[in-house]
Amino acid sequence: MNDKESDLAIHVDNLSKSYGSFLALKGIDLTVCRGEVFGFLGPNGAGKTTAIRCMLDLIRPDSGTVSVLGRDPQSDPVAVRQHCGYLPGELRLDENTSVHSVLEFLRELRGGGKDCQRRAKELAEQLDLNVRSKIKNLSKGNKQKVGIIAAFMHCPDLLLLDEPTSGLDPLIQQTVLEMVKESRRSGATVFFSSHVLAEVQAIADRVAIIREGQIVEVGKTSSLLSGRAWRMKVIFAENTQIFAEKIEALPGILLDAMSSDGRELKLIVDGEMDELIKALAGYHVESIETERPDLEEIFLSYYGEVSERDYLEKSK
Ligand code: ATP
Repeated sequence: MNDKESDLAIHVDNLSKSYGSFLALKGIDLTVCRGEVFGFLGPNGAGKTTAIRCMLDLIRPDSGTVSVLGRDPQSDPVAVRQHCGYLPGELRLDENTSVHSVLEFLRELRGGGKDCQRRAKELAEQLDLNVRSKIKNLSKGNKQKVGIIAAFMHCPDLLLLDEPTSGLDPLIQQTVLEMVKESRRSGATVFFSSHVLAEVQAIADRVAIIREGQIVEVGKTSSLLSGRAWRMKVIFAENTQIFAEKIEALPGILLDAMSSDGRELKLIVDGEMDELIKALAGYHVESIETERPDLEEIFLSYYGEVSERDYLEKSK
């Protein structure tokens, strides 16, 4: 990755933030390149919203530095916010006004012109939102759509989206993911937090996983997926108790489960498959199914009670 400062949309260095005596961010580092879609994953309370708020100077960190689009949000908050589209995790809107009035107010606040107005109208149509509705009469999902339009309508250089698809139906979720892809095509950077791993896998170029205020994994979505153990299910024509015992001795191969008749083995293959294939060649194999872990499995390997990672490590 080219991490020349001018190529970075976001640069977070050793950022810490506490609420009273509770340390919510423990010295996190993040770099997001211009033009990339970056997924920020973590369980409830991990620190995602706190990090995003620091990027917009909505809250101040205790220590560390943040640079957004080459600017310091603390010394240059107006310029930073002008070039960003922000969807907060908890949207608060004036209940007694209409969708149209909210969007017009935000457009004027940002100094947006006719293009911004046209774009807001297009997005409302795309998201199937009636702009004449009163905010107080909107469902949760429809309120979320207002926030999404507000974030996208001025075609910002950087979109900071805190759980953008939360509360939306699957069809509208797809529309929002298309909007993210379209923004990337037009050169914008998108940083979004999410609990929906399938959507992160589908659209993020890179992913960071945050846990208890610390970044525990960061990398290209594709390499996070490719460097992981495979799962394999092998069905034999006969009982293979002896083979199951041999397997434990093979490097990087773990026996996950065996059926009571000894014909079906579930394996975790963490490394070269070659040794295993050679060993299998001596038996009558009826079928083999292999499965690469998806992002969900990787995510759970950090949070699951007995994680795949612990399992692999204990068994080495
Ligand atoms: P979620 O996925 O549930 O939105 P998150 O990853 O966005 O979670 P944050 O909202 O950043 O997490 O919260 C991180 C931690 O900081 C949590 O333990 C939360 O309870 C705590 N926290 C957040 N805001 C405050 C606050 N204003 N005062 C005290 N504690 C806070």
